[in-house]
Order: sequence, then structure tokens, then C-alpha cells
Amino acid sequence: MKPVIALVGRPNVGKSTIFNRLTRSRDALVADFAGLTRDRIYGTVKEPGFDFILIDTGGLTDQTDNMSDLMRKQAKLAIDEADLILFIVDGRAGLMPTDSDVAQQLRNDGKPVCLVINKTEGERREIISAEFYALGLGEPQVISATQGRGIDTLLAEIKERIPAVEKIESDEVADTFDENEIRLAVLGRPNVGKSTLINRLLGEERVVAFDEPGTTRDSIHIPFEKDGVNYTLIDTAGVRRRSKVSEKLEKFSVLKTLQALEDANVVMLVLDAHEGIVEQDLHLAGLIIESGRAVVIAVNKWDGLEKSEREWVTTNIERRLPFLNFAKTHFISALHGSGVGLLFKSVRQAFQSAMTKVPTSRLTRVLEDAIADHPPPLVRGRRIKFRYAHLGGKNPPRIIIHGNQTESTPNSYKRYLENTFREALKLQGTPVMIEFKTSD
Ligand code: GDP
Ligand code: GDP
Repeated sequence: MKPVIALVGRPNVGKSTIFNRLTRSRDALVADFAGLTRDRIYGTVKEPGFDFILIDTGGLTDQTDNMSDLMRKQAKLAIDEADLILFIVDGRAGLMPTDSDVAQQLRNDGKPVCLVINKTEGERREIISAEFYALGLGEPQVISATQGRGIDTLLAEIKERIPAVEKIESDEVADTFDENEIRLAVLGRPNVGKSTLINRLLGEERVVAFDEPGTTRDSIHIPFEKDGVNYTLIDTAGVRRRSKVSEKLEKFSVLKTLQALEDANVVMLVLDAHEGIVEQDLHLAGLIIESGRAVVIAVNKWDGLEKSEREWVTTNIERRLPFLNFAKTHFISALHGSGVGLLFKSVRQAFQSAMTKVPTSRLTRVLEDAIADHPPPLVRGRRIKFRYAHLGGKNPPRIIIHGNQTESTPNSYKRYLENTFREALKLQGTPVMIEFKTSD
């Protein structure tokens, strides 16, 4: 499970600037999808050797709260959700009474806190930090978020202090999955029918209640077998959690979703045919795309719809979720069971595609054929040259293409290559990432 780190601090101290700096350089996958709702409050930070989820609690609290309510809510959220709190203060403004109040609240709780003084450019660190020792939070990190100063030291400190997790290179993370087990997360906004579907998927014979202890960000992991394949179902709806009535009432949790995505290979995105695509579905789709996971779409509550209604839903999905067009879509009724059995085949196919292994020789041949059919365009009178392609990772497959001037490859050509590889390698249900490397 990934550690969660929360940013807490008064408005304007630079929380969102720090958030953007730490979560920057994210997936190329998200780059050019218009209409995709992205989350600016929760993000994943991937550093060599350690990853974590970052929350900007400032973005979660209500604008109309007065300052002390605002700060109390932020601190409470951070204490509830995070493993480590980054408490941000403003080096220019100096120590403020609210800072002292929040510091006390954080100290009382005993959660690990790292004090960060921002906006310190052009000042001596000893002079700036002197007054903040009074907060009783120990040695501060002195940074300038806008200039990027002190960020590496801050990251080193975070790495030091977050709970021990397997320290593996981010690049290798995708390769640590067990190839003999499909980790399937069932995701969807409240009321789309996740619980009903999960009960169907698991079948009647396995009605076991799971009593795993956990916090609000934990999902239940349920191992099961189907047609000789081992699965772990990641249940964000908490269906099988015993005596947790409140669990069902909980609203959509981004943090839980992010954790589930981290744990899964394949996502089953459940939609409600009676309602079509609403804002929250788009938000969820954005998180899924960003994760690079394989996807199967289950359009639920297909029962009792008129032909015209069915047509409307189908068009609605195509139009609003074009960036998920690599995923196989099933129309099902979890309530009656129709279409549910067919989901497994698509899940297996998506998993196999996500985990695909292709030798460099084969990828290079596909690349050569693609170039022969449609040569890359000229850039400033010179032709972009591609030499060879190799597989750089899985879940999602990353195809690394080496050549000259490759950074000038237009997006349209990149998409052409992506589609060609997808077709040639029969990849279904997974995003495919194309990356270029220029070697001189
Ligand atoms: P938040 O309300 O805590 O999220 O603060 P923001 O990130 O929105 O920053 C508030 C203002 O402070 C913005 O105008 C930022 O450009 C500015 N700011 C953020 N970090 C720094 C910094 O390191 N130095 C300076 N001088 N300004 C900064
Ligand atoms: P969750 O919040 O996503 O776990 O949704 P539930 O599984 O609790 O279902 C929400 C409501 O939708 C319940 O009243 C279900 O009976 C109903 N429901 C679930 N699946 C179907 C279906 O396939 N067709 C119809 N008509 N209703 C369904």
C-alpha cells in the first residue's frame, strides 16, 4: 500500500505550488484528452525508489469556512488520512498565530509531521528558520516552491520518514505483478450496482464476510478462482465487510480509488445505463486513465430499457469517454445476471494484453512496416528517423522507439504508431504508451 502524504497550511503559503511541483512530469497518457476531468487535489508522486500519494488538504476544505475552522478541518483530514503531514508555513509572512494553533493540534495527535518553510528565496536559511523552531516541530525544511530550491532535500526527508515500503525503482514497479493472478478492481460511483455485480461475479457459493480491519482508504481484497484462473477482486464498495453499515453510506472516495488502482492490474468500470455518463464518471475515468491500468467497461442496469434509450446510452458513452475506446464495453444486468459471465473473457484478455511480452525484433519489424506504409513527416527539411523499438514496461505496455529527431514526432503520427502496434500485437483493453528516445 502506498504511503499517503498530506499538505496542510494557511491559504496562500504555497501548498498548490508545492503540489504541482511534486506531482509534475506525470503520465504522457493524459496529455491530450479534452474533456477529461483531472484531480488537482490528489496526485501520485513517483520518485526513483519510492512512490506516494499526495493530498492538498487546502483544496478539500470549504472556501466559506473562517480561518480557524478551515485549519481545524484540514488538520483533521490530514490526521485521518495521511501517514506523514507536510506542514507548510510562509517564510516571508513569518510565524502567524494560526500556524501555532495548527502546530499544537498536530503535535497533540502525534502523527509524523515535517515542517516546511516556503517562499525563502534570497534569504539566509538560519535567519528565516529561527522563529519557526517555536512551533516545536523540529528542524524545518527550507524551500522555495516557485524556484524549486530545497525540493530534493525535502524529498530525501520524506523518503526517510514515510513508513517502510518496498523500495523499488518506479520503473520496475509494473514488473513485480504476479503473472498468475489477475488483480481486478471494481470501480464506479455510488449506486451504479458495484455491490450487486460483485456478488454476481463471486457467485453464491462464496458468500463469505471479510472482517479485515481498515481505514476508510482500504478496499477489501477477495481471492477467488474462475475457470482455472486466480483472481483477487478489489472491492471498493465494501460489500463483503461485515457489520459495516456506515461503509455503504460513504461517498465516493478518491483516496480509496487511487489505492485500488495502485493495487490492480485490470479495472472494471461500472456505469449506470439509466443515468448515462455524469461528471463523477468522468472524474473516475480520469483517475483510471492516469493510472495506465487495463480497463473493461460494464454498462449496468441494461434491463428494462427501451431501444431508443439503449441507443442514447451507447452514443453518450462513445461521445463522453472517447479516451477509453481501447476498452471492451459490455451491456449487463447485475440484478438479473445477464451478460455478467462474458465479462471474465474481456478481463483475461485485457490482463494478457497489459502483461504482453514482445521481443525487440518483433517490435522493430512492426515499426519498419509502419514506416514503410506511412513514412514519418519532414521536420525542418529533415526526416525523422526511427531505428528500432523495444518494450520498456508492462501494465501498460510501454513501447520505446529509438531514432533521430524523434522528439519532433507530431502527435498524429504518434497515434498512428500506437494504433499500428495495438493492431499488430492484438492488444485489447489496455492503454499503450509510445515513448521516443533520440540517440546520437
Ligand atoms: P496555497 O493557497 O497554499 O495553495 O498557495 P498557492 O500555491 O496558491 O500560492 C500562493 C501564492 O504564493 C502564489 O502567488 C504563488 O505563486 C506564491 N508562491 C508559492 N510558492 C512560492 C515561493 O516559493 N516563493 C514565492 N515568492 N512565492 C511563492
Ligand atoms: P453500489 O453502490 O455501486 O454498490 O450499488 P448497489 O449494488 O448497491 O446497487 C444500487 C441499486 O441499483 C440497488 O437498488 C440495486 O438493486 C440496483 N441495481 C443494481 N444492479 C442493477 C441492475 O442490473 N438493474 C437494475 N434495474 N437495478 C440494479
